Amino acid sequence: MEFNEAVFVGSFYDMAQIPRTGFAQIAFAGRSNVGKSSLINRLLNRKNLAQVAKRPGKTRALNFYEINRHYYFVDLPGYGFARVAKEEQTTWRKLIDSYLEQTRNLQGVVHIIDSRRGLQEDDLSLIEYIGFPQRKILWVLSKSDKLSANQKAAVYRDTLNQLQCSPKELIFFSALDGTGVSELKKLVSEMLRK
Ligand code: GDP
Repeated sequence: MEFNEAVFVGSFYDMAQIPRTGFAQIAFAGRSNVGKSSLINRLLNRKNLAQVAKRPGKTRALNFYEINRHYYFVDLPGYGFARVAKEEQTTWRKLIDSYLEQTRNLQGVVHIIDSRRGLQEDDLSLIEYIGFPQRKILWVLSKSDKLSANQKAAVYRDTLNQLQCSPKELIFFSALDGTGVSELKKLVSEMLRK
């Protein structure tokens, strides 16, 4: 499935504000700077749509995109910024927690991991509170263009071991050279159909 009809719906800071259409949703999560906006833009065949999520004040919100008039892609706030105060981390966590807990029609989460760093402590805690394996997660190793073939093989093996997931649930992605774009579209389409 192509995701050609994408419209930015809004930025929401509170579960009481989010749209109540009942559309199936896919959430996108990852540490700040992992390449989440670039990935979403690539998936939507758009140059700058996800940039709205980066405007001042919006990085701490749930940013909703309506896709093909039937679905929502939800860009979750990026986490893991050492400079962010504890208080803000708590607010962030509460928002994500309530989103994950209250969204009945969440079909799956695309969790983006920087392929140069592999899984970090805060990635693991996110996985824990997403509630894997009850909740479907697709893992994406981003910025794969920055790695050599050997480095790719090593990070793939290590991440697979740590996650104990199936190789079908872990893919490489590069917004720069297009690695993984069509595979990601296919896998997200499958999550939406389930
Ligand atoms: P976000 O904070 O997770 O939304 O990350 P962005 O999409 O804004 O990307 C953060 C930085 O990484 C930017 O400088 C991007 O140009 C760069 N970046 C994103 N995706 C890729 C990629 O696939 N390859 C490379 N080499 N750089 C990337």
